[in-house]
Amino acid sequence: MSAPPFNLYDLTREQLRVQLVRWDLNPVHVARLWNYLYIGLAASLDAMPELPPKLRARLAAHTYLGVLPTALETASGDGFTHKYLLALADAERIETVLMRYTGRVTACISSQVGCAMGCVFCATGQMGYTRHLTPGEIVAQAVHVARALRPAAPAKCHVIRDTGAETPAEMCHVIRDKPARERLRNIVLMGMGEPLHNYDAVMHAIDILRDPNGLALGAERITLSTVGVVPGILRLAAEKRPLHLAVSLHAANQAERAALVPAAKKWPLDELMAACRTYSATTGRRIFYEWTLIEGKNDTPDHARAVGELLRGLPAQVNLIPLNPTSGYAGLPTHSAPARTFQHILSAEFEIPSTVRQRRGIDIAAGCGQLAVTEAAAS
Ligand code: SF4
Repeated sequence: MSAPPFNLYDLTREQLRVQLVRWDLNPVHVARLWNYLYIGLAASLDAMPELPPKLRARLAAHTYLGVLPTALETASGDGFTHKYLLALADAERIETVLMRYTGRVTACISSQVGCAMGCVFCATGQMGYTRHLTPGEIVAQAVHVARALRPAAPAKCHVIRDTGAETPAEMCHVIRDKPARERLRNIVLMGMGEPLHNYDAVMHAIDILRDPNGLALGAERITLSTVGVVPGILRLAAEKRPLHLAVSLHAANQAERAALVPAAKKWPLDELMAACRTYSATTGRRIFYEWTLIEGKNDTPDHARAVGELLRGLPAQVNLIPLNPTSGYAGLPTHSAPARTFQHILSAEFEIPSTVRQRRGIDIAAGCGQLAVTEAAAS
């Protein structure tokens, strides 16, 4: 029995090269194929006209291109946020968000269908866990956003040939130098799912996204957000992966945190902070601590001082994010004035830098999982 077709987005360039060798084809063709996938952003084999016939035949017989169709697309009123509900092959749906703020183009991508962590205020947590995404499904979200940014992107080889470029390396160079209006530069793994719960697939996908001959996303432009999966943080530290790490804290004592983040019962706050200290000591990197501001719940001056004490002496930045309301949780977002007071306390009393995130994209349910939940309820 022959092996089922595999998703081209699942493979690194080196794995594709090895596959070509297995097929008894010249591995030099991997450069052109990779170029079609991640520079030309081809959406099908038909958009790769200049592949050698033998390679094309192998690809047609043994692979597929896991492009994710858009089930629903919404744009915020200010035009800065686009949210895509993308359909997976098994009819599951995931969310991907394109954000354009202060000149930064960022894709917020999902790592799972649903999430097992159950944060009480999160629409994805309220859905529960369905399954992990494959590396190809994670990569395909970034490709989807890159394609959305470049509607007139060259998808066919004649565009390359017209420039006079001959070698694959030159092809990459020439296309990057074309007058693309915007380019995907940042990835945040803050969509649906807990990325450290799907560690291997996420890291494999990041390796593909970072390939310098493809989407070429710098590690310093990739941020992974975790609710506090301690073994994953320690593994990241041991592997010294040069990513940005964001840890969702939301509370500075175990009881309050466990009430908001059920995963804290498995990985208590003291273990989490020990892992964060190990991570920062091992990598020398600052951690971003995320704090969802919920009115009257965790937004008082006492809460600010508690988190200040917790993070005292650590390389840290606190990102304060007023709650995105969901139908499954009764909390309300903190208003601007108490958020600024919280920030002032962190700065003045603890010298901890912080930001207060603007609540963007609220009109399109841009908080993670909100669009999927809304869509499921409507269908
Ligand atoms: S906030 Fe993140 S970790 Fe928590 S339930 Fe939502 S998706 Fe999962």
